[in-house]
Amino acid sequence: MITTNGIGDFVTPIQYLDYISGNRIYVKREDLLPFSFGGNKARKAALFFDKIDGSGSDCVVTYGGNSSNHCRVVANMAATRGLKCLIVSPREACAPTYNSRMTELFGAERITVPIGDVHDTIETLIQRLRAEERRPFFIPGGGHGNTGTQAYVDCYGEIRRFEASDRVSFDYIFHASGTGTTQAGLVCGKLLHGGSETIVGISIARKNPRGRQAVADSVREYLSAQSRVVPETGIEEAVVFDDAYVGNGYGADGPSDVIDEALLRYGLPLDPVYTGKAFRGMLAYLKERQLSGRNILFIHTGGAPLFFDYLNNKGN
Ligand SMILES: *Cc1c(COP(=O)(O)O)cnc(C)c1O
Repeated sequence: MITTNGIGDFVTPIQYLDYISGNRIYVKREDLLPFSFGGNKARKAALFFDKIDGSGSDCVVTYGGNSSNHCRVVANMAATRGLKCLIVSPREACAPTYNSRMTELFGAERITVPIGDVHDTIETLIQRLRAEERRPFFIPGGGHGNTGTQAYVDCYGEIRRFEASDRVSFDYIFHASGTGTTQAGLVCGKLLHGGSETIVGISIARKNPRGRQAVADSVREYLSAQSRVVPETGIEEAVVFDDAYVGNGYGADGPSDVIDEALLRYGLPLDPVYTGKAFRGMLAYLKERQLSGRNILFIHTGGAPLFFDYLNNKGN
């Protein structure tokens, strides 16, 4: 019987990586979170399971495609507790991947429907489970919502403590931004602590204004739930969502040159869907703006299984 969420108060390391075109690059290794290959979905899911553990729920319902890191982590956390996990999945993303094979291994049940039916399927499923006197707990796709945002407010706190103990001050934080929850958490942390660094979410799929809006909405939702008042201009300024490096969208044309080089040069594993795109985006951003002499923190948000999918496909 597991009595903690599997992560507890583990603090992920920040390593100095290299001096790149005049900037000192550090990496916060969220991929090393000690549960199911780590990553930002593990940090978020840990907080959801803290809630589940006291709730009397007897099954977990969530949403995501076959390559979803979120579904793998949630299915694994559910399995450690002997809880049934049901995943509603869009038919459009159902090619098998290492993540989907692991969710199978963890005994999760996948319900595959056309993407337009996802919302209704989740509603019906939850109603059906309740009618069967089950007690489902719903986790939004990607660990979205205030609980997921909280996870990255916590992460921001870790970054602040590192800055204080190691006497370094970051000018920029870069990371892969998808649903925007990770970014919203970091931005809320910055606003609540009065941080001065620029947080740049490198979009892995969404274009603006939608992508930026999603982050800003999550920031407002979290702050209002905390009854914290931050001027609208402060929120608008703090949300930098850069959609210049999405290529052809989600999962498409991952930057193999950057992935191979990061591994060869630093032993740093990146993936084509998230961290590789973000790392390439960061380097381009620094170059295009001719930034130098800065302390830069790259947040490695995980996604290790996607690296192995990449490796499989590379041979084809
Ligand atoms: C989901 C994910 C992201 C994006 O996180 P959001 O909170 O949805 O913006 C980034 N990197 C990896 C590896 C992910 O799995």
